[in-house]
Amino acid sequence: MGLSSTGHSTAKTTWIAALGELELQVPRSTYETWLKDTVGLSVTDQSMVVGVPNAFTAEWLEKRVYHLVRKTVSKIADQPLEVKFLIEGSSQRGPAPNASTNHALKTSVPAPCIPNHRYSFDSFVVGPSNSLSYTAAQAVASSPGQYYNPLFIYSGVGLGKTHLLHAIARSCIERSINYLYVTSEQFTNEFITSIRERTTEEFRSRYRSVDVLLMDDIQFMSGKEQTLEGFFHTFNDLHNTNRQVVITSDQSPNTMPYLEDRLRSRFTWGLITDIQYPALETRIAILQARAKEMQVCVNNEALTYVAERVRNSVRDLEGAFNRLVAMAQLTNSPITRDLAAHTLQHPTDAQDYSSLPPDKVLTAVERVFKVDHATLIGSKRQKELVIARQAAMYLLRKCLKLTVTQIGRVLGGKNHATVIYGIKRITANLDTNDALRAQIEVTKEELLNQSRQR
Ligand code: ADP
Ligand code: MG
Repeated sequence: MGLSSTGHSTAKTTWIAALGELELQVPRSTYETWLKDTVGLSVTDQSMVVGVPNAFTAEWLEKRVYHLVRKTVSKIADQPLEVKFLIEGSSQRGPAPNASTNHALKTSVPAPCIPNHRYSFDSFVVGPSNSLSYTAAQAVASSPGQYYNPLFIYSGVGLGKTHLLHAIARSCIERSINYLYVTSEQFTNEFITSIRERTTEEFRSRYRSVDVLLMDDIQFMSGKEQTLEGFFHTFNDLHNTNRQVVITSDQSPNTMPYLEDRLRSRFTWGLITDIQYPALETRIAILQARAKEMQVCVNNEALTYVAERVRNSVRDLEGAFNRLVAMAQLTNSPITRDLAAHTLQHPTDAQDYSSLPPDKVLTAVERVFKVDHATLIGSKRQKELVIARQAAMYLLRKCLKLTVTQIGRVLGGKNHATVIYGIKRITANLDTNDALRAQIEVTKEELLNQSRQR
């Protein structure tokens, strides 16, 4: 699929597909830290520009994974492209009058977290399920320490807690307010490091110096008594001087069994709000906003179809939508209700492919995954080849119901364990990797067409 236009939307979708590939090829921590929060900005015949949140990220990506990124993007675009990283965000900490960046770096503090460029108040779709949390977050952002202190937001996963914290962080940056965003895991790690390196004073003063502390997912401190104690003191230091604290959790402080009463009671001093599952209208509005952001053209029927079927978290909703976009891109088709039905429901699963010979599966995989036959059944270990091979194993199993031994033979004599591992790996990645899922779906579709013609 060549790049026919130079538009934003091509850049965005190409990069999303590239991220899907890269996720399979780099360690999870690398993906989460350096790649997840990047965005495709523009693409020309020669190059693609990718937005990154800060200079650290740009430098790291250039030094460590540039070749892989370029190769992956070129493969998806089907033409050689250079990749340029453009810094989009500003710095994470609001200007800290006392602490210079160098100082922060010296004391072995992990690289600060920059707000995700997508997570702003403007991009948050408000509905009855989240409006109280949204309004409270806005109030806190506009007058830190004035209204609800602490503000405590809880909900199930993927419903917008982190989004709201980042939106507050962004507003702090705009207004030069000194803030700190940490997950409770980071807090725990820093706390432990400070004990080990005897820098607890620095640790304390670093936290004490902020005007707004944003603590994400406090439930991960569960059972870590010393850390909770450390947090208790940090909290008191800040609260006593009217500095704002915002905390998120997967449940209300009243039902968090590991909380000591003194901390629990402090959490109830301010405002406790929750976020519920969004209703259909909100889910549709979220998808509309996402389509606009990705600059893809989608008819409302298709959006409604997705919104009606994915009801749990907004993250799942976005995942389903990304898959749909990836699928449309792979098959070069418009995003319609039919395509949505096809992508979401796996109608192909219920079909009978059993009359197809195994070599048809290999041919289809070779076409969709862009590898040649010798390579597919060979033993080269490059990651994208391995994935194609594993996809073939998966499809031979799912569609043709071959035994593991048969599959090994079809693929040029692979052993039992390799085949089992391959099938498991694809199965595990299908949930999270939208691009891979789209590739598998397209392959199945192709197989289905062939079996119909027989
Ligand atoms: P949580 O922290 O509660 O697990 P996140 O804040 O990470 O959830 O949200 C998951 C994804 O859903 C993010 O991409 C976020 O931008 C998106 N999201 C959640 N709620 C909304 C909303 N109301 N409007 C727009 N996007 C949302
Ligand atoms: Mg979160």
